[in-house]
Amino acid sequence: MSFTLAIVGRPNVGKSTLFNRLVGKRLALVDDQPGVTRDLREGAARLGDLRFTVIDTAGLEEVTDDSLQGRMRRLTERAVDMADICLFMVDARTGITPTDQVFAEILRRRAKHVILVANKAEGRAGEEGALEAYALGLGEPLRLSAEHGEGLGDLVQVLMPLA
Ligand code: GDP
Ligand code: MG
Repeated sequence: MSFTLAIVGRPNVGKSTLFNRLVGKRLALVDDQPGVTRDLREGAARLGDLRFTVIDTAGLEEVTDDSLQGRMRRLTERAVDMADICLFMVDARTGITPTDQVFAEILRRRAKHVILVANKAEGRAGEEGALEAYALGLGEPLRLSAEHGEGLGDLVQVLMPLA
């Protein structure tokens, strides 16, 4: 059985870095809903023995504060609805922000299954931020470094029973 995993979270936490690591060059654009889904990227992911579809929410990086909430919400909700599992990424180095709280609320209400990931946690970095992430009420955060490839074995272990 295969599944679809959506990587969601505020800009700059490392979503695309993880997406690229999972997908490599096996990438396609999702383009059936102009203005929203052009900002969703879909690809065929490999992680250990797992094969699944992964969705990256992109295109939020350049929006202004005024338009952030609405666009972010629409895009995230679309990705969440397409996904069996949501990987909610926060930045373990900066800790939890009000924008993270907005995402957490969307996921709590809407997602079928959430995996909370505290990224940028290579070495011993981000222990404090990971602790802060507990307070989101979405379970134990998995410490990961998308850039350095650390914690991916733990991600396999979490995904395996859900696959
Ligand atoms: P996105 O906006 O959530 O898609 O974030 P990006 O994947 O574009 O990454 C934003 C920035 O964080 C880039 O400069 C990345 O190089 C950096 N980054 C991503 N993952 C890691 C990580 O595991 N550790 C560190 N230190 N930096 C990371
Ligand atoms: Mg991105």
